[in-house]
Amino acid sequence: MTLLQLPRTIAPPNTLSDLNELRLTVMAYGTCRGTTNPDAWFPDEPDWEDDSQEATEARGTHKQTARMLCGGCPVRAECLEAALAEEQLLPRSAIHGIRGARSAWERLKLRRSRQRSATRQTRKAA
Ligand code: SF4
Repeated sequence: MTLLQLPRTIAPPNTLSDLNELRLTVMAYGTCRGTTNPDAWFPDEPDWEDDSQEATEARGTHKQTARMLCGGCPVRAECLEAALAEEQLLPRSAIHGIRGARSAWERLKLRRSRQRSATRQTRKAA
């Protein structure tokens, strides 16, 4: 497994019970549990929307940090889905840290992508 490999995917939780099960799994098996340096999962976040080369490079470094910290974690997929479920109603300003090997803005992009996909599916079905 390489450090840049992204998590396998699992289905998003549909119920609070599903979400709690994911949380328990993450708490039991997550690599970061018991770490002596939890702040490592909350590095300074580069500007999400700045198109300058400097900001682009900073985002790349941040993404690599996320993959490095979570790269060997056996519950990355569960952690990512739990994060997405917990954050789905939060404003962008309230989403921080690395979870499921993804930065905060990567999770936000994934959330938006899923929302667009769900909207398209709803329109098709109507
Ligand atoms: S994926 Fe990362 S943040 Fe989530 S439990 Fe594993 S090490 Fe912790």
